[in-house]
Formats: sequence, structure tokens, C-alpha cells
Amino acid sequence: MAIRNIRKFGDKVLTKQSKPVTEVNQKLITLINDMLDTMYEEGGAGLAAPQVGILKRLAVVDTSPEGDSPIILINPEIIEVSGEQTGGEGCLSLPGKVGIVKRPNYVKVRAQDINMEYFTVEGTELTARAFCHEIDHLNGVLYTDLMTGELMDSDVEEEEEL
Ligand SMILES: [Zn+2]
Repeated sequence: MAIRNIRKFGDKVLTKQSKPVTEVNQKLITLINDMLDTMYEEGGAGLAAPQVGILKRLAVVDTSPEGDSPIILINPEIIEVSGEQTGGEGCLSLPGKVGIVKRPNYVKVRAQDINMEYFTVEGTELTARAFCHEIDHLNGVLYTDLMTGELMDSDVEEEEEL
């Protein structure tokens, strides 16, 4: 259990492609637990491995109000989208900022769990946004690449950081 340092905007690691996870070993389990601790500590709704400097296709998401429903995504892929939502999006790598980003309103993701078994998970609204945002991180894409308009100062009470 440890809080990891979150890489900030401008760090080159955030613009690189992550590599597939090929095995879940103790080191990866430690990384997953640290990522969960870091996400909760920082009050985020999602965190991708490149944000802690590790270029592996791994992300965690928890959009529940209580912060007690973590979703661990290993090698995630978006397999279905529908609808559209346009709204403010923030990122733990760019604290205190928000930009307007259009995303699908519904997303279905196929990923592997910690036993490397495939599963699918669906989400709407914030959860759909979080899935898109975290998977973008694995491809070196930041929301600032996708936003319409200018980067703004965020109201921390209202915006979720991903
Ligand atoms: Zn982010």
C-alpha cells in the first residue's frame, strides 16, 4: 500500500503508447493496489498506469459516490459506444483544470481481470467518460488533445478528475 507520484502534464511519459500486460505477477498486484490507493487519496474517479510512470495497459476506475466499487481494467478495449455527452473533464495529471470534451454517453469495455480472464463492463455518463479517458491515457492521448475551447480553472466541488 503506497501512494505513487502522479506524473503531470508536460511529462513525456503521458504521451507514449503503453504496452500490453502479459502476466499478473506480485509486482503488478502491488502496482494495482498502489494505483487504487493513489486514486482514492487524490480524490480521482480513475487513474491509468502511465500517470504513475508505468507504460502498461492498466487502469483503475471508481465512479461510485462512496468510492467503494473499484473496476480494474487490464488490457482494456472499447468494443461498443453509443450516444453522446458533452461536458467538463479533468485529469489528476492536470490538477485544478477542466476542459469541455465530447464523449459517448454509453461505452462497453472488454478487459482482463487479475486472473487474466476476459470480462466486459458497461458504463454511462461519468463512468463512460472515465473509461474513454483512461483508455486514451494508455494510447498517450490527453483530454487536452480532444477538448473544444480553452482549458479553464475548475471548481473542484463539481469536476471529477480522471
Ligand atoms: Zn487523466
